[in-house]
Amino acid sequence: MPELKKYKMFINGEWVNSDTEKIFETLNPENNKPWAAVPEASVSDVDRAVKAAQNAFEGEWPKLLPKERARYLRMIGDKLRENAEHLGKIETIDTGKLYRETYKQANYIAEYYDYYAGLADKVEGTVLPIDKPNIQAITTRIPIGVIAAIVPWNSQMFLTATKLAPALAMGNTVVIKCSELAPATMFEFAKLIQETGIPKGVVNVISGFGEPCGKALTSHNLVEKIAFTGGPETARHIIRNSAENLSEVSLELGGKSPVAVFNDANQENAINGITAGIFGASGQSCIAGSRLYLQEGIYDEFLDKLSNRAKKIKIGAPMDPETEMGPISNYKQLEVIEKNIKLTLEQGGRLKCGGQRHSFSNEGYYFPATIIECDNHNLPVAENELFGPVLSVMKFKTEEEVVSKMNDNQYGLSSGVYTSDLARGMRVSKAIRAGITFVNTYRLISPTAPFGGIKDSGYGKEAGLESIKDYTRVKTTWFYTSDEPTLDPFSIR
Ligand code: NAD
Repeated sequence: MPELKKYKMFINGEWVNSDTEKIFETLNPENNKPWAAVPEASVSDVDRAVKAAQNAFEGEWPKLLPKERARYLRMIGDKLRENAEHLGKIETIDTGKLYRETYKQANYIAEYYDYYAGLADKVEGTVLPIDKPNIQAITTRIPIGVIAAIVPWNSQMFLTATKLAPALAMGNTVVIKCSELAPATMFEFAKLIQETGIPKGVVNVISGFGEPCGKALTSHNLVEKIAFTGGPETARHIIRNSAENLSEVSLELGGKSPVAVFNDANQENAINGITAGIFGASGQSCIAGSRLYLQEGIYDEFLDKLSNRAKKIKIGAPMDPETEMGPISNYKQLEVIEKNIKLTLEQGGRLKCGGQRHSFSNEGYYFPATIIECDNHNLPVAENELFGPVLSVMKFKTEEEVVSKMNDNQYGLSSGVYTSDLARGMRVSKAIRAGITFVNTYRLISPTAPFGGIKDSGYGKEAGLESIKDYTRVKTTWFYTSDEPTLDPFSIR
């Protein structure tokens, strides 16, 4: 067996093992063989990382001119572009995501650092129209302190960028906890961070499990904000943990995103968007458009075309440039997918295509594009987040009916509408209770576009102009502008 690649954690600018020397292995989903070993952070490792971040916060970093911090962000962006090939390969080995996607993503993510570099010196304060004589009062925005950034396995580079870039731009320091399911890319990324010469302790990367590592981090008394992306159950733990340190929490959680196709939609365009939305990244995407509502006039014809397209998706090795769908990342997820499909079929769901493990390889968990017709959207595959390539399909008659059905789910992350009537596109978008609506398109991200959900999909937005302010707090400063002493020390004015 080939020797495992060994990673270390990045704490206070140094590469370290866990003080317990404990390690765990990470698997390559293509063959489910371990390929790398990473440290398992203990409570005291977490403490070391947080204290390093706190020291850095008390040091020069927040005092640098914004344009100086921006320079580091631009360097991070440049390094991402220069190393996109390598990062893409590592990400593909560790997650099973397609190299053609991970490589492009590593390049594109650089733009998040460029964007927040540009914003670093654009956040202004205010002068208050104060109601008192001889007083001038202003507000400024100050950095928060140590940020705990916790990311899931599926898009770590992207989900780190949406936290790290605004946090650094505003002068905070950060401890990133990578996912135990695919930690390697974050250590490769930490090497690039180190090469920028950023002061020690400003960025720290640790690896470990929810317990003890995640728990210790999210309840640590020096952590001031937790920026979390992951599942709703984990979010509940984190909120409970944050009762210990009273830190601010932002949550980017799961989704069960609905997509409606009206009779007048451009069908070819809709099929492309729906295919990207649910079968891209083998459906392992938080914004996966996994509930499809087809208007009755096009139902049969559209569904046939869509399933013909789905059957043609090329399943294969994730490094192969021809591959369109790679493996499911881990066995736990495969089990969730299979269990939900089984229950749905027992309850009357009708399989249109897929539904069983794919024979491409019996080492990795390859699962084909699966489409299941459901008479109601309370069947398991139409209701639960599966994080896999499974599309539930339902029929609707009217706009009012479909809006109500689209809203009838605990999540509210993304949504989609296909129609050639843009007035309707706008109406439906306004009526859907979700953080994102795509009209006649799907699966787009941009540093300029806020990303995040409502309802059980979480709160707080990442990316976009607004998000930069989420990494600051407002401070009010009062100036007394008279040369005369103040009067009556025992009265509040
Ligand atoms: P997860 O919730 O299991 O894990 C996410 C992270 O939380 C991991 O780093 C994990 O170690 C950590 N964690 C686990 N228990 C913890 C605890 N008690 N305290 C602190 N940290 C803890 O999620 P996952 O399975 O890795 O990822 C899939 C989920 O993430 C899906 O629900 C998906 O929809 C969601 N997701 C959301 C977005 C978004 O932006 N809304 C993006 C990607 C993924």
